[in-house]
Parts: sequence; C-alpha cells; structure tokens
Amino acid sequence: MSFTIHGIGVSGGIAIGHAQLVSHAQLEVAHYDISKSRIAEEKARFDAAIVTARAELASLGEHIPAGAPAEFEAFLNVHLMILDDPTLSERPKQLIESLQCNAEWALKLQMDALIDQFESIEDGYLRDRKTDVVQVVERILKVLMGRPGQVLARSAPEENSILVAHDLSPADVIQFKSHQFASFITDLGGATSHTAIIARSLNIPSVVALHHARTLIRENEVLIIDGSSGVVIVNPDKTVLAEYKLRQEQWELERLKLKRIRKTKTTTLDGTSVELHANIELPDDVAGARENGADGVGLFRTEFLYLNRGDQPSEDEQFEAYRRVVQEMDGRPVTIRTFDLGADKHVDAAERVAPNPALGLRAIRLCLAEPQMFHRQLRAILKSSHYGKVRILIPMLSSANELNQTLHHIGEAKRSLDEEGIAYDKKIPVGGMIEIPAAALSLSTFTRKLDFLSIGTNDLIQYMLAIDRADDTVAHLYDPLHPAVLNLVAHIIRGANRADVPVAVCGEMAGDVRLTRVLLGFGLRQFSMHPAHLLSVKQQVLKSDLQEIIVLTQKMLRSDDPEKLEQLLARMNS
Ligand code: PEP
Ligand code: MG
Repeated sequence: MSFTIHGIGVSGGIAIGHAQLVSHAQLEVAHYDISKSRIAEEKARFDAAIVTARAELASLGEHIPAGAPAEFEAFLNVHLMILDDPTLSERPKQLIESLQCNAEWALKLQMDALIDQFESIEDGYLRDRKTDVVQVVERILKVLMGRPGQVLARSAPEENSILVAHDLSPADVIQFKSHQFASFITDLGGATSHTAIIARSLNIPSVVALHHARTLIRENEVLIIDGSSGVVIVNPDKTVLAEYKLRQEQWELERLKLKRIRKTKTTTLDGTSVELHANIELPDDVAGARENGADGVGLFRTEFLYLNRGDQPSEDEQFEAYRRVVQEMDGRPVTIRTFDLGADKHVDAAERVAPNPALGLRAIRLCLAEPQMFHRQLRAILKSSHYGKVRILIPMLSSANELNQTLHHIGEAKRSLDEEGIAYDKKIPVGGMIEIPAAALSLSTFTRKLDFLSIGTNDLIQYMLAIDRADDTVAHLYDPLHPAVLNLVAHIIRGANRADVPVAVCGEMAGDVRLTRVLLGFGLRQFSMHPAHLLSVKQQVLKSDLQEIIVLTQKMLRSDDPEKLEQLLARMNS
C-alpha cells in the first residue's frame, strides 16, 4: 500500500531507495516468554549471533577505509574483546534459561547490568568503556533481529539505502560521512538540530520529525524522500515514481548549472562585495568547501573530532587536524571554533543527561570548567596558525566575566608556546559567537574586546523563542521571521558595523536562500554556511540590488504582522 508521511525537510533534493531500519540497543528490544522446549534453540540462536558479529568485526578490521582514524583498529579490537568476554557471550544464555525469555531480552538485561557496574568504576577511562559495550550489544542485537551488519559501521554501504531511524544523534550521523547512503529520515529532531545540520553537510536529502516513520515503514520498502518539502512517500506507484525520477534529474541539472558561477566574484548588482565562507565539521569537508568556491572556513565545528570515541583527542591529533584544514584552504582564512560540546553533542553516548542540556554545561562553559582540555585545544589551534590564516572563535559567550576568563586562557596557551619556542601567529584574531540573547543585548562588551563576531542564529533563535532545537514537538515554532528575531539579528549586525568589528552569520539562516537578501539589507557582508548552499546563495547575491532591498528590510523591521512580513519577503525575493 502506498502512503505519505510529512516531516521537516532538512536537506534538499530527492532520494529514491530502499528502507533500512536502524535499531538501538536502548530502544526497541522485544521481550517475550519462550517455552522450556525452546530454550536450547534460543541459546543456539544467541551463539550463532555471536559468531556472525565476530565475523563482521573481523571483516571490518580487514577493510579499514583509507583515511580512517588511527584508533579505528584499536577500537575494533576492544569490541572483539568485549564480544568474547563470558559476561556477554555466556551470561545471557544463563538468563535465557533461568528467565525463559528471548535472546534479545536476555542480552539487553545483561547489558543494563554491565552498564550499572561500569558506572560505579572510579577510573574515567574504564568507565567510558560502557559505550563500547552498548555498541557491541547493538551489533549482536542487529544480527538477532535479522538485520546483520551494524548500519553505522558497514564496510560496503548501498548507495540506494535510506536509513529509517527513530532518532539519530549527531555522533551517529557524523559516521555517515564515510558512507554513501542515499538519505536518512528520523521520527525525532528539529530543522536546526545538529543532526539536521550534519545531514546538510552530507549533501543528502533528509527529513526529520516524521513521528511514526520507524513504526510505519518496513525493511526494504521503496521510499521517495523529498528533502525540500519534507515529504516521504512509501511504496509509490509507477506514475509517482516516474514523476519523482524526473524531478530528481532536474534537481541534479540545477546543481550542475550552479557550478558555473563557482569562480565568479560575489558582488551585488551595485558592486558591493560579499564574502561566502563554509561551515565544516571534519577536515574532509574542506573538499566540499573548495569545490563550491568558499572564500574561507567561517566555522569549523571542532567538537566533531570528539565524538564516536572513548577518549579525548590529544593536542597533537588536534593540531594535525587543524593544520590539515589550514593548509588545504591554501591561504584562505579558517575560523576554528573551540569545542561546543554538551547539549546534544555528547562525548559519551551513555553519559547522564543534564536536566536542561541546552541550558547546561555546554560550549565555553564546559571548556572553562575543564581547563586542561581547553588548554590542549588552544595550543593546538595556535600551533596551526603558523601554517596559514587562522582565527579562534568562542561559542556561547554570555558575559564579560566569561570573556575575560577565556582571553586569560588564550594568553596562558600563548605563554606556554612562547616558553617552548613554538611558532604561532601572535596576532591571531579572537572572535565570539553571538548566540545568547544576553550577549546580543550587551554587544559592546564583546565588540570592545573581540576582533570579530559570528552570529549563531540556530541557538539565538532557540534561546529567544524558548524552543529546544532538537525537539520535534516544538519544531514548528522555530521561526527566523519572528519580528523579535529579525530585530535582534539586525541590531547585532548594526552594532558590530558601527563598532567596526567584522560580523558574520554562521547559523542556518546564512544558508537559507530565502533570507539572503534580508541579511544583506541588515548590512551583513559575511555569510558562513554548509558548502552545499554556497552557490545558490551566491547566485542570489549576484542578482540583488542593495538599494531596493534596504527599503524593504527597513519596512520588515517596523512590522510585527507575520502576514505582512511574508508579503515583504516575497516582494524582496521576486
Ligand atoms: C548556531 O548556533 O547558529 C551555530 C552556528 O552553532 P551550532 O549550530 O553548532 O550550535
Ligand atoms: Mg550554536
């Protein structure tokens, strides 16, 4: 039967492929009783799953992708050890027998018991191994549930697979970068959640906030994903399929056409220059930035170096990653943001979640609370500045006190390098993200001491409108055209321009071509966005007449009527 589900499109384009359901150990594990006569059979099923999971790990070890992190092999070995430990390979069989339950449930119970034991370990490193236990259990569960080959670590992904998940964390999605999935869709998530942001960087059509996709869609069903409108069509008939194939071709053609302006200088019709920079998550993303003609990297979200691993990246490892980006950008500026961990980006997938993670120990707050981690990162960034034009960007600043502490730490990191005679750019610019309303409303605190600003509209909107950006139930309230948002963004740009401090927007608003002219009209001349959006935003700038736009944006700022705002926007974009 064909049916359609609606969600939020987070990354444009059309994908057509087969559903591949994603399971997580902590969710979706069936529990049923079995008769005494089936115990032996159930134990044999469990043993067979262990054998298959072991073979998968061995095969992954033999096909480690080029460019995979050095720790990848060690990580596989740890998983093999965990798999072979009797606590995982034997104890569940005793539970199957004593509780007369299915193998999946016995395994889940044993996993919960092991996690409890790990949580009480004092040694941080050993405690962190519980994440590995969860991942190994997920692998065995997938085999038991008839879907061998853990999705996130497959060695030979299918190009026409569409991942269907209840939820995916940014850490899950970042692993897709080394794969070729056609698309992914999730029940949870909002348009500016980090999961959605990475989807954009993967350049694959994706839809979030579908609510029931994971339960309605069956393995291997044919799906059409329209990432622009947020529509998912399950089991389409021939006519619909043909129509979408055509639309897919047209989309590809448009993208090819845009490539022609890759090297064109970005100026408005009246000759005003505009800079278009790229947001990246991992060093490999530089390729996309270069391909789409980015003027620099406006936001390197370094926290992604931290995800999907049990330990912290060393100073050397970070330095190598930063240096690589700086060298590959070949003299263009690279803005390295210090870790924005916390909220939905956890180092440890199983870590305790704070009562209000978005309002908790996140970003610069976490760095100031973990000075050694911060010091290591600052040294690594400073060292990379010897190899090109590097700028340091601090996320989530809210007060003068935080800013002063941060500048003190940067001074300390510089001093330590001086003592060791290590070269770095002594005049490295330091900038701050303006993404907390309090910072926006006390802008001079930041313009006085910082070399540049970057507006994080994703968080700014989250905190202004009090909507959790990762929560799909309030995602419909996310509104960059809210009069308060427009006025505050305009206020920041005006304030920075008056203080002669360069300002960019690096939130998702910068890559939304519908809003390009609004931001130009506010006086913005630097945009930073996912590389996939660079050329369509450039095309919009090339066709823009600033004088006309400014008149309309002034009208927008005076209006508090949503309908009128939409009309003005439509006029501006016509
Ligand atoms: C933002 O908040 O707009 C931003 C660019 O940072 P992030 O999305 O990583 O929080
Ligand atoms: Mg932010």
